Amino acid sequence: MVPIYVPGRTMAIVAHPDDIEFSCAGTLARWARAGSIVSYVLCTSGEVGIDEPGMTLERAKEIREEEQKRAAEITGAKEVVFLREPDGLLQPTLELRKKLVREIRRFRPEVVVSGDPTIVWAGEDYINHPDHRAAATVALEAVFPAAGQPNLFEELKDEGLSAHKTRKVYVMSWSNAEVFVSIDETIDLKIEALRAHKSQMRDWDPEEMIRQWAREEAKGKEMAYAEGFRVVTLINNETWEKNKETWSNSAKHSQQT
Ligand SMILES: [Zn+2]
Repeated sequence: MVPIYVPGRTMAIVAHPDDIEFSCAGTLARWARAGSIVSYVLCTSGEVGIDEPGMTLERAKEIREEEQKRAAEITGAKEVVFLREPDGLLQPTLELRKKLVREIRRFRPEVVVSGDPTIVWAGEDYINHPDHRAAATVALEAVFPAAGQPNLFEELKDEGLSAHKTRKVYVMSWSNAEVFVSIDETIDLKIEALRAHKSQMRDWDPEEMIRQWAREEAKGKEMAYAEGFRVVTLINNETWEKNKETWSNSAKHSQQT
């Protein structure tokens, strides 16, 4: 397989448990296998997503967090952080931007993977979940410019956190992708990780749909299965090479939540 770019540290920021598994888990698994340290940040714990008689929000939160942790193990992510914002009501607030800036300054990702805040509908039968748009908006706002500005949220210095500039953002794309990552070797892990979300899959096996989506992304390229992104490079290669030691070695390994 052709060698690919592998970030040293990768942080994926999404709204719900299973968002990563439906979209970018094949790429994250590939990067993790190649040595990238991967962090998942979940804005909500998906607690309104289990529609069963007698189910409480508290119980649903526990179930979905457990499923997400299991899915992260399968793809080789090192940590899962739950911010526990209210599911179904996510807003790109300044408070949430600050929480994400805290995570970015702590983990110090080379790459942040996020959703696309401009997607409102896709095809003729889906309206993008407002939480997905909110998570994508606030993730991009946190990455740039907030996390890299030392005098913004400067109170985070009291927690020992200093400004951090992210090198690249990989925006998960549904139809406008420009960069395609082959997931030929990790599509099985992606499917297995999605199956870990048992409360969502129930009797449905996602394998055929995931293979179909990935085949469509890979069409015309030298790969069988792909995930597509739009990539924004915030730090050019020359600047990155000059500074990468200081930028990538100061990460704080903190608690799993
Ligand atoms: Zn979702």
